[in-house]
Amino acid sequence: MSTHHDHLLYIEDLGVSFDGFKAVDGFNFYLDRDRVHVIIGPNGAGKTTVLDLICGKTKATSGTIKFNGRELRGMKEHRIVRAGVGRKFQNPSIYEGLSVIENLELSHPKGRGLFACLAFRRTPEITAEIEAVAADIGLLDQLDTEASILSHGQKQWLEIGMLLMQKPELVMLDEPVAGMSVKERAETAKLIKKIAQNRSVVVIEHDMEFVKEIADRVTVMHLGHVLAEGSMETVQQDPKVIEVYIGH
Ligand code: ADP
Ligand code: MG
Repeated sequence: MSTHHDHLLYIEDLGVSFDGFKAVDGFNFYLDRDRVHVIIGPNGAGKTTVLDLICGKTKATSGTIKFNGRELRGMKEHRIVRAGVGRKFQNPSIYEGLSVIENLELSHPKGRGLFACLAFRRTPEITAEIEAVAADIGLLDQLDTEASILSHGQKQWLEIGMLLMQKPELVMLDEPVAGMSVKERAETAKLIKKIAQNRSVVVIEHDMEFVKEIADRVTVMHLGHVLAEGSMETVQQDPKVIEVYIGH
């Protein structure tokens, strides 16, 4: 028997309904530390809603969400962020008019908010943190570049970098390679594996080649619940999965 002490994230019987429609229903999910866990499933399966429930954007109607043994259900979004959960949405939310370094700086826990930002001084320590993140996301030589002129892929990486500035223990990425070139996808796979060296990463993705490359574990969602779970090889061979998802 597993308990919530064994997992960074321990979700059981999670559910939410929208006007009687159960978008997520009896969803179980167990996330190990320092792993990349990918959630796949057809459109409308409830994948994005699961991330909304974890980060507190949507309130669950049933179940438990334990992060480091602590119940996230009922906690406010900003407190969930502070507890160590970082989440990237499908559309990047960077500040287009600011430079790469300014975007990263704004995401530093001490630089958050306009007032904090005015009083914020870039210490050597913070500069070193920013440069380390910029190196990880491949933007170290673009620190003074205005975000608006970055490529689509670079904007996505910058947003991942903005999450990393908060030193989350869990990073959740919703379709991070949508719209990316083949080369950018390969770079993103490397980046995800790198950031999972000392934290866990939950990724929602459709691109099966990409999933194969990054996933330590795969959960297949269908109609709001788990259809199959295991290694990529295991779930790929599951007849239920072939029927509802890969077969389409
Ligand atoms: P996925 O990310 O797997 O494609 P979603 O989680 O976005 O699926 O959506 C699951 C289902 O829940 C869909 O039928 C969607 O229309 C519905 N849904 C999601 N969010 C809301 C909401 N805030 N209000 C009403 N219905 C929603
Ligand atoms: Mg989605």
